[in-house]
Amino acid sequence: MATLPSGGGAQALLSACRNASTDPDARARASTDRSGYVPGSVPDGVVYAETVDDVVEALRLATRFRVPIVPRGAGTGLAGGSSATAGSVVLDVSRMNRILSIDPEEQQAVVQPGVLNAEVNAATARYGLFYAPDPASTAICSIGGNVATNAGGMWCAKYGVTRESVLSLQVVLADGRILKTGRNTIKGVSGYDLNALLIGSEGTLGVVVEATLRLLAKPLHTATVAAYFADAQAAARAASAIIAARIQPAILEFIDGGTLAAVDAMMGTDHSSRGNAFLLAQVDGHGALLEQQVLVEAVTPFATSVEQTDDDVRAADLVAARRNAIPALQQLGRVSIGDIGVPRKRLAEAVAGLAGIAERTGVKIFVIAHAADGNLHPMVVVGPDESITEGPAKAALGEMFHLARRLGGTLTGEHGIGLLKQDWLEEEVGSLSLELQHKIKAAFDPLGILNPGKGI
Ligand SMILES: Cc1cc2nc3c(=O)[nH]c(=O)nc-3n(C[C@H](O)[C@H](O)[C@H](O)COP(=O)(O)OP(=O)(O)OC[C@H]3O[C@@H](n4cnc5c(N)ncnc54)[C@H](O)[C@@H]3O)c2cc1C
Repeated sequence: MATLPSGGGAQALLSACRNASTDPDARARASTDRSGYVPGSVPDGVVYAETVDDVVEALRLATRFRVPIVPRGAGTGLAGGSSATAGSVVLDVSRMNRILSIDPEEQQAVVQPGVLNAEVNAATARYGLFYAPDPASTAICSIGGNVATNAGGMWCAKYGVTRESVLSLQVVLADGRILKTGRNTIKGVSGYDLNALLIGSEGTLGVVVEATLRLLAKPLHTATVAAYFADAQAAARAASAIIAARIQPAILEFIDGGTLAAVDAMMGTDHSSRGNAFLLAQVDGHGALLEQQVLVEAVTPFATSVEQTDDDVRAADLVAARRNAIPALQQLGRVSIGDIGVPRKRLAEAVAGLAGIAERTGVKIFVIAHAADGNLHPMVVVGPDESITEGPAKAALGEMFHLARRLGGTLTGEHGIGLLKQDWLEEEVGSLSLELQHKIKAAFDPLGILNPGKGI
């Protein structure tokens, strides 16, 4: 194979692929995600795949010309996973956005990777079914990206993350071969579980071109509780009391006082007048009203105000406070979204530890959390001209990781390692695990052209 000068391979690929663009705006858009990280250069071009054949062709050419390929869905990632620099080509699959079939009897949907998460639920609702992994970004993120990051969301405490809801995948490997993983039965254990391996592999092992999703029956009843507290510690203790009461909420979200004020400012609501920390809980199923009562009893001793409702419209308003928390904080400055996980009973310690980190590093840290699964999103907010990947913000990120580890937790609950958390990965997983992971990467992608430098 001829050795091409740097950049030559990318140009050859781009001129051979249909729907390729070298437009400066397209390249700039494709260079980054929603993490706020801005690379120092832009990719050489973007291929907008519309079919599986387009993906196969792009990857065959990438292998032939040794061109780094960055798979891209909707670009809402928060770890720099779909960021791309000079010499690489972005393979954007957002135009592969059709729901191919819905089987209400088997409770499955087959979708292309560019379908948005919310579109799956809009389409399956008419059958009384839903797709459980619901990131706060549901309206803007793609199923392919969800698979690649093993995305989680509010309902995951009860219904599991993406890995529990994807039965099988069709994936194009780095050399253009098509791999099918998993199976469309509920059970099945033949061979190693490559389906589980691909889910969460952050575009480093293959490009997802089709996914068979497991759907669940929509609960007939839901009941919602909004509880307000004098401080974050009281809210964290109330969350532990809910879990100790053996309630399994479908949603249990924590928002601290600063975030609540930002949400109020953006949405014109008045949550912060009722307390300085907020827990939103939703229970569902036939026993929803009964569970709601037990839940209210569990949180009341800690709360300044408790509201309960089984009205869908009011419940949606309360859920909107959580869904809008990140955009609301983004009104205050540049935001780096942390994503640590701790054992759920240590939530209060984690919140206290984050306050200490804010004091030591001098950065502002706001906290929202999926309280039922111990997944905290500490939000570092800096001024518009300050870096969120270097200096005090990076120091805070490092301290957060060490806090999570000290409490028996993890560096990332759902956003992935991407580019921005690699410094701490080995410390969490260990050198042997990392060595094996690199060998797995080499088995799938011997030339190292798929999303190099990301994930592991
Ligand atoms: C406001 C906001 C709220 C969020 N809330 C949540 C949340 O609650 N839970 C959560 O988990 N995440 C959340 N996120 C993060 C983000 O939405 C998820 O990580 C999502 O899964 C990314 O999907 P995407 O289509 O935007 O992927 P991208 O950003 O385009 O890509 C993410 C990664 O996946 C890879 N990739 C994308 N498509 C494919 C494909 N077809 N094949 C192989 N690799 C691919 C990319 O290379 C990259 O490494 C939030 C983001 C924002 C902006």
